[in-house]
Amino acid sequence: MTDCTIRNIEYLDFGKVKLLEKAPKFLFKAHELAYNFINDKHYSLTALLAYNNRKLGEGFNNYDTTHPMQLKFSNRGENRQFIHAEIHVLTKTRNIPVGSKLYIARPKCDKSWGNSRPCAGCMVALAKNNVSHTIYVHSNKFIEEDIRQYR
Ligand SMILES: [Zn+2]
Repeated sequence: MTDCTIRNIEYLDFGKVKLLEKAPKFLFKAHELAYNFINDKHYSLTALLAYNNRKLGEGFNNYDTTHPMQLKFSNRGENRQFIHAEIHVLTKTRNIPVGSKLYIARPKCDKSWGNSRPCAGCMVALAKNNVSHTIYVHSNKFIEEDIRQYR
């Protein structure tokens, strides 16, 4: 099972990211939620959407279903792509305020932090739906990335 969040980490633009000293509480919550869904076949990735310290919704990677929005933004010439947690939460949440933030966690089986930067397609989808920043893990560092450039 491949995970798009692993394939696309090489182009981190460090002009748009800042290192956080510790994991924000919503990243911990996403980590806890995701860990509950781990099984021996799949890593589990959870995305938690928040605005001004208020949780708006959550989404999960799903290996059984796809969604037209996923196909629109994936843009890899595939006719079927399983829905990513980031797209899942967008499809579930109405009236996303401008400046919302998305927290993405992908715990490993030992509950340590896996890399969880959204793929390029999800970054664009998020930016076009009022999300201004993504907060994720890269090489055991907690990162907040300004994604407004993808609008
Ligand atoms: Zn994605």
